[in-house]
Amino acid sequence: MSENTNAFQIAQQQFDHVAGQLNLDAGVREVLRWPSREFTFRIPVRMDDGALQVFTGFRVQHNDVRGPGKGGIRFAANETLDTVRALSMWMTWKCAVVDIPLGGGKGGVVVDPSKLSVGEKEQLCRGWVRQMVKNIGPRQDIPAPDVGTNAQMMGWMMDEYSKLTGEFTPGAFTGKPVGSGGSQGRTEATGFGVIYTIREAMKQLKIDPKKATASIQGFGNVARHAAIGFTEILGGRVVCVSCWDRNDKKSYTYSHKDGVDAHFLFSITDPYGTIDKEKALAAGYVAEDGDAWIAKDVDVLIPAALENQVNADTVQKISKTVKILAEGANGPTTPEADEHLKEMKIFTVPDFLCNAGGVTTSYFEGVQNDMNFYWAKQEVFDRLDARMTEAFHGVLKMSQDKGVGMRDAAYMVSIQRVVDAMRLRGWIHGS
Ligand code: GLU
Repeated sequence: MSENTNAFQIAQQQFDHVAGQLNLDAGVREVLRWPSREFTFRIPVRMDDGALQVFTGFRVQHNDVRGPGKGGIRFAANETLDTVRALSMWMTWKCAVVDIPLGGGKGGVVVDPSKLSVGEKEQLCRGWVRQMVKNIGPRQDIPAPDVGTNAQMMGWMMDEYSKLTGEFTPGAFTGKPVGSGGSQGRTEATGFGVIYTIREAMKQLKIDPKKATASIQGFGNVARHAAIGFTEILGGRVVCVSCWDRNDKKSYTYSHKDGVDAHFLFSITDPYGTIDKEKALAAGYVAEDGDAWIAKDVDVLIPAALENQVNADTVQKISKTVKILAEGANGPTTPEADEHLKEMKIFTVPDFLCNAGGVTTSYFEGVQNDMNFYWAKQEVFDRLDARMTEAFHGVLKMSQDKGVGMRDAAYMVSIQRVVDAMRLRGWIHGS
């Protein structure tokens, strides 16, 4: 039988596993293993050629017991209700693990954004908001950018929401551009958060960051800033990044003998994330197959692209030199691969802890929107570092106390916080 890669079934399986260890009440399990609300809707868009095209949109609100729903909107050709369900559930655990007063939500549109003009993209964003306006907002559910969406799109969405409600409501969306309610540092936040957790893991494993090497899958917003952070915050060397090439319709792993310069690679990346291969080769980069990143002899692997990339097949290729797997992406590791990582004694920083820097800074953005008072970039980074460091050590302690891996420990911390909130609000009784 081939490996199950249905993200929602994996999310439920991970939850069930820990719910069993925590002896959670059957009713509580039933509440938490399903989203509390799901929306599927159609978004008609008048395309540039005059034709009307209809797109499918989703928003899933997994749980809002600790605060309004929170989570990104993905524009992806292979988006399904199940991927959005899984991602919304992971958002609940993500907000809980960093102890921010927000719940879990996620949205999506089935579309390849690279095939849309700027105007079509704007119409699709505004159409998404028109369908969801009654069920989102700063006190209900607050979307943000994710794969295939960006700050500008959040700006359009916030504008549409404000127009429809008749009130300027910057806090309805986060990840907005600085200058229209966005927070300083939000762009870097997820990638830098990954780096703060790697720094703490290195302390634990007694690895000198200045001598450390990393291999990164992806070159989107998370991967790019993780690459910058690994070099500039930790002083280590990034051996390679991988990147989807939309012209060649395949991915490449770009490495450089002196280490990857993420600033340079970004300067030759198109708006859809494709690195200009010719320019990279001319600058001395080597382009290997897209899968090559996972087999590199490095200390740290950072999958920061999509789900299921570390799976039963690819996990076999991981080098014995690897000590840390830092999951920048959501759901990059399948349960089968996870077992293998445990056997290999690779210290895993699980996704919803590792990449929680984005949503943590989204929370800071919402706080700034509420106050209508904005912080300096360094203040954002300092607060982010403090939150991520505290969350990391809370999970590490749970892992040591209970004798479980970091993923199970992160689930334990988060589920406990969510269940406590359910009890405090009177959804369930007992001590
Ligand atoms: N999309 C990001 C995530 O998966 C950020 C979510 C947010 O800022 O709400 O964590």
